Amino acid sequence: MRFSEFALTTLKEVPAEAEIVSHKLMLRAGLIRRLSSGLFTWMPLGLRVLRIVESVVREEMDRAGALELLMPTVQPAELWQESGRWEQYGPLLLRMQDRHDREYCFGPTHEEVITDVARRELRSYKQLPVNYYQIQTKFRDEIRPRFGVMRSREFIMKDAYSFDLDQEGLQQSYDRMHAAYTAIFKRLGLKFRVVDADSGEIGGSRSQEFHVLADSGEDAIAYCDADHYASNIETAATFPSAGERSAATQELEKFATPGVKAISDLCAMLDITPAQTVKTLIVDGTDGPVALILRGDHELNAVKAQKLEGVASPLTMADTGTIIKALGAEPGSLGPVGMALPTYVDHAVASMADFSCGANENGYHYKGVNFGRDLPDPETFDLRNVVTGDPTPGGTGTLSIARGIEVGHIFQLGSKYSEAMKATVQAPDGTNRVMEMGCYGIGITRIVGAAIEQNHDDNGIIWPGPLAPFNVVIVPINMHRSDEVREASEALYAELTDAGLEVLLDDRDARPGVKFADAELIGIPHRVVIGDRGLSKGEFEYRHRRDTESRDLKREEVLKLLKDLPIS
Ligand code: ATP
Ligand code: MG
Repeated sequence: MRFSEFALTTLKEVPAEAEIVSHKLMLRAGLIRRLSSGLFTWMPLGLRVLRIVESVVREEMDRAGALELLMPTVQPAELWQESGRWEQYGPLLLRMQDRHDREYCFGPTHEEVITDVARRELRSYKQLPVNYYQIQTKFRDEIRPRFGVMRSREFIMKDAYSFDLDQEGLQQSYDRMHAAYTAIFKRLGLKFRVVDADSGEIGGSRSQEFHVLADSGEDAIAYCDADHYASNIETAATFPSAGERSAATQELEKFATPGVKAISDLCAMLDITPAQTVKTLIVDGTDGPVALILRGDHELNAVKAQKLEGVASPLTMADTGTIIKALGAEPGSLGPVGMALPTYVDHAVASMADFSCGANENGYHYKGVNFGRDLPDPETFDLRNVVTGDPTPGGTGTLSIARGIEVGHIFQLGSKYSEAMKATVQAPDGTNRVMEMGCYGIGITRIVGAAIEQNHDDNGIIWPGPLAPFNVVIVPINMHRSDEVREASEALYAELTDAGLEVLLDDRDARPGVKFADAELIGIPHRVVIGDRGLSKGEFEYRHRRDTESRDLKREEVLKLLKDLPIS
């Protein structure tokens, strides 16, 4: 490709709407352009990267025996009513009507449609296993579209759905997808981790996520390499503490705390740390409000809390009016002593002694609170996020926390959809059996953002080799004044292109500085500069995007280096 014919507009300024590096760089490098909230156009340069991701995913899915099909993006409401999700899915689902007032949605995912396909197509166990997949546009009306293509409303997903006769077959299909995903992210040259995950909205049992590791990731991952343990923090479990609680040393004392609204106010007043306080959160229960009690420095884990019996799902904070009506005090002065509501105490709280908390009376707190004396010894629950240093489930290691971007997700759905939609096949014994399903998603568009988030510097993107939109950029110096430079550049361009490389020839009549800056911004791995001075010695100037210095290499050396590149 000749730069002069590529119509690429790069931006020097950082666009105000972009919060994180990948979004900024994707806009600056001209990979995407915003149309409206959560909607983006993939420009020619960005589309090259997207197509690479798609082709790697497609190859590995095909290799794993999955069958590509293409379902409609628009889905009839009836199917969603059959599975029960028309009501459940909520505002994430973009709903619409046709001219006959029939209801539809724009597919955020395709379990219903594929189950409809499978119940029509698959009749006998002899046809199984089957794993159908597609690479297709989804729409989710995200509450907060942000980070560009990483959390957009319209995005491209590879979604696959396996059908098996029994759990054993499902496990095999799932394992095959686990292996295929591992191969995909390795081939794309990304640093990633596989973590245990919550199965969330979609239902089912076993589920794992593939995360690209990056400091800006929205998800926190708890891991311990020694214990071979990794889990999304949403599901990483905490445990009752093994040790004895220390004995009470203080008397219970109620004291006035005017103006104290937050844990930090209380700590400042008493000169204590948040770990010596407990906080009380009132949330909706299935039968009126309930209280959740956590150590002051710990964070509530909504995914775990909403699974507890008696707690409403999705987790919803009670409003102040409800709290005052139930307890006669405002949030900020609440605590477990004399708590009138059903109470769920976190495991970690049970080992505290001499702690401080609200007194369920506006403007008053307690200090020197002790279980067994001031309030009964509690039954405890897993309510909080793990923190660095917490024990692993095996109990032999301790957890570290890393941040990740979820780029893939594999689930064992079991019979949730096949049962609701009566997707059965004839089993060997002649009876009809409901099929076991798995589903497997990859965020094709999100991968591009995640790759940049993991691979960039102050000057721009640094594409991992396999993802680069061009393998090589040739930068001629004064091409428009020097015949030698033009001829040498054209000849190298032709030879590398013939060798199967994607080459960008920067034939613009622009200053070298401008060309270098653009080449770095768009992140092309290999740069060859051709100028009169080098040519007189038969040399080109070569530099890898990750190098700090250029090297003068003979033409043959450059050719050898570039032609030996693995092209995926
Ligand atoms: P998240 O937790 O990030 O909202 P999810 O768990 O709802 O994602 P899945 O239903 O598992 O997403 O979808 C499969 C994959 O699609 C995800 O792993 C992710 O890579 C991608 N994806 C999901 N939502 C978006 C989005 N709004 N924008 C871009 N990619 C997305
Ligand atoms: Mg997911």
